[in-house]
Amino acid sequence: MSDTVHIERAAPSGSLAPVVVAVATGSPAALAGVQAGDEIVRVNGDVPRDIIEWQMAADEAEVELDVRRGGLDFAFSIEKRAGESLGVDVSSAVFDRVRTCDNHCEFCFIYQLPKGMRRSLYLKDDDYRLSFLYGNFTTLTRFTEADLERVITERLSPLHVSIHATDPDVRSHMLKNPRGAMSLRWLRALLDHDIVVRGQIVVCPGVNDGAVLADTMAGILDRFPDLDSVAVVPLGISKFNGEAAMRLHTVAEAQAVVDIVDDWQDVFLATLGKRMVYAADEYYLMAQRPFPPAERYDGFPMHEDGIGMARTFEAEFHGRADEATGVRRGFFAAVDAPPNPAAYTGLRTGVPCGSGAPTGASTISLRPRRNAPIGILTGELGAAVITPLIESLGRDDIRVIPVSNDFFGGNTGVTGLLTGDDVSRTLAAQPQGHRYLLPDVCLSDEGRFLDGLTIADLPRVVEIIETDGIALRAALEQP
Ligand code: SF4
Repeated sequence: MSDTVHIERAAPSGSLAPVVVAVATGSPAALAGVQAGDEIVRVNGDVPRDIIEWQMAADEAEVELDVRRGGLDFAFSIEKRAGESLGVDVSSAVFDRVRTCDNHCEFCFIYQLPKGMRRSLYLKDDDYRLSFLYGNFTTLTRFTEADLERVITERLSPLHVSIHATDPDVRSHMLKNPRGAMSLRWLRALLDHDIVVRGQIVVCPGVNDGAVLADTMAGILDRFPDLDSVAVVPLGISKFNGEAAMRLHTVAEAQAVVDIVDDWQDVFLATLGKRMVYAADEYYLMAQRPFPPAERYDGFPMHEDGIGMARTFEAEFHGRADEATGVRRGFFAAVDAPPNPAAYTGLRTGVPCGSGAPTGASTISLRPRRNAPIGILTGELGAAVITPLIESLGRDDIRVIPVSNDFFGGNTGVTGLLTGDDVSRTLAAQPQGHRYLLPDVCLSDEGRFLDGLTIADLPRVVEIIETDGIALRAALEQP
């Protein structure tokens, strides 16, 4: 199947070569002799720029792999079935540097992070490859003709594009970038080549809501009717926001956004046969309105972006869904080792599986009994969704414990942005001996909160459960 040749040849200088972090036992790579720690220099004669190129080469039936190990170069010639996994996990997604964003949006949450967090959290990416791989949104202000050619040739679809406004002046004003005015021409080009594109509008009250939002809806209908779907989401505000023009929505403003989306859903449905635009769950909470019925989400195309999560969670919790609505990330869901998107976006956390208890909690004195009362830890937005579900059970041994996000403050109510410090403070006020459930979305793949703490640092034993209604129901019924 394979053979190994020791060669003496220098790797290209200056490359950010990916490193093999794991080799599956018995895999073609393992049988060839590839080892964890090997630095990948070339695959099939080319220096891969990212995991997309790497995976395409690794999927071929014959893989010529040049690696560097301990200062020496090795070459492996591996034969396998086309499409069969090579069995190699690599260390990152982009090998030639993530393309960073040259916008300066006032609403950017990265500008609203406190100082001193890990460096990767401050990385503003605007890289279509991360859009394809992880669903990150790109503004296309740095997109080029060569990028378009690659996207079309390699069918990098779907992509996720930040629209914000179709009016060129409003858009360039929001991005604080003159190129923002014209870069939606790339969106038109992508759609013309049948690339599936999901759009996003971050609504900033007083900037692109009201008449501007309605105008954007008209612009989408007129210029981009072939978009797959468009998420309308509110800006996030942390207590570190320094932009006076950026503020929270009032209830009336949130209601106006919901109304515009509802009205335009009817227009899109009548003209295009689909609703096209969807408001984030957060809007219905802010507007103090019920969530739309599940059928109005048309299969939840933007579930990852907080659109319809309350309805899918409810259906899962009540046993009306056979499986949880998972995260779909194109064919790279099957990449050997998808790197943690949090390393790139900082704010999207990976979803580790399984459940367990801490191994080294410092102040734990009691493990809860199986029939102990249960506390469900969740962000304030999650609590608004989960509380009615728990009440419907009629059990007085279960309570929802909203964790207020003092770390970020502002309107940061999503569970995925909870820090260990806030969870710890909340738990410290809760009794010993109860069961505490914590959604895994709070933790990175490495089991850390955003502030670096782990569950071992918490003052109570917690059970980590997957962030869906099926897992919650199962945890409530059987510890
Ligand atoms: S919000 Fe996005 S596009 Fe705007 S500055 Fe931040 S990273 Fe860049």
